[in-house]
Amino acid sequence: MFTTFLINDPSGDPGAYLELKYRRGAFLFDLGDLQNLPPRQIRKIRHILVSHTHMDHFIGFDHMLRICLGRNQHISLFGPPGFLANVESKLGAYAWNLVKNYTNDFELAVTEVHETKRITRYYRCRNSFLPEDEETCTVFGSKLIEDDSFIVKTAFLDHSIPCMAFSVKEKTRLNIKKNVLREMDLPTGAWLTGLKEQIMNNEPGNAPVRIWWKTEEGRLLEKFLPLGMLQKKVVNITAGQKVCYITDAVWNDENIERMIELARGSEILFIEAPFLHEDAATAAKKYHMTAHQAGTLASMAGVKRFIIFHFSPKYKGKTDALQREAANAFQKSNNG
Ligand SMILES: [Zn+2]
Repeated sequence: MFTTFLINDPSGDPGAYLELKYRRGAFLFDLGDLQNLPPRQIRKIRHILVSHTHMDHFIGFDHMLRICLGRNQHISLFGPPGFLANVESKLGAYAWNLVKNYTNDFELAVTEVHETKRITRYYRCRNSFLPEDEETCTVFGSKLIEDDSFIVKTAFLDHSIPCMAFSVKEKTRLNIKKNVLREMDLPTGAWLTGLKEQIMNNEPGNAPVRIWWKTEEGRLLEKFLPLGMLQKKVVNITAGQKVCYITDAVWNDENIERMIELARGSEILFIEAPFLHEDAATAAKKYHMTAHQAGTLASMAGVKRFIIFHFSPKYKGKTDALQREAANAFQKSNNG
């Protein structure tokens, strides 16, 4: 469960905001114009996922910096090859002689993502944002970040330069119904962790679950019940939902395959649709997609809902046509 929205009108700078219900801190997709995002929401941001550093996707860096400066905040940023130099140019554009005395320290952990390696560098306000420690690791696969409650994945797309698309997926949540435990005369305690693990490992319904507890005298007691029965009665399972953000990509076979793989089964897909299909040639020349392609892709990836954005200024006043074209393509592709 989550809250997510485009930061600007679909004709404005690209960018989306995402808050997961069960996790503190928000995600930001892209760093375009952020004037429409209230400062209190900017201060909640913990992860910023930048597709590429064309100006309309990165000009909001300064605004974010200004809002967060002087706060005890830690933000992790991720971006494509060249990202560290881009960030350092931004940070290097100002004089920082007075920040040493700030009582709070604003920290940035910036990761430059390559297909097979990641370089993370750290910067702190009180150290004038000079580059500090650096870590490099070799990676394969699409996983970018993982913690207890979510996984972020990425895909590199061709936009004449590498452009990153992102998905954020909540992990499945298992909640124990304590009132039912009481009714069944079962104790709470560490055995519930084992129960959750057995469920997550998809063990069969007849697998025994060890329930154990200590009496007041310290004697260890145990009993066994079948997993399937416990799962049905005692556990509430909430499947994690996925939000995907795709922008600035040309319509070609490799991009299509990567986009479908990343977006598959999303609850919401944000996807660029700068052009009408009658202007497909212009779209291709600029390494962008059309509304028809966006709607088709949303259908191919089996997403529940999709939101188009990044409209070209040439459709000012007639953006309904883009919405209609994308919706029709989605429906047609779903029915065919
Ligand atoms: Zn763009």
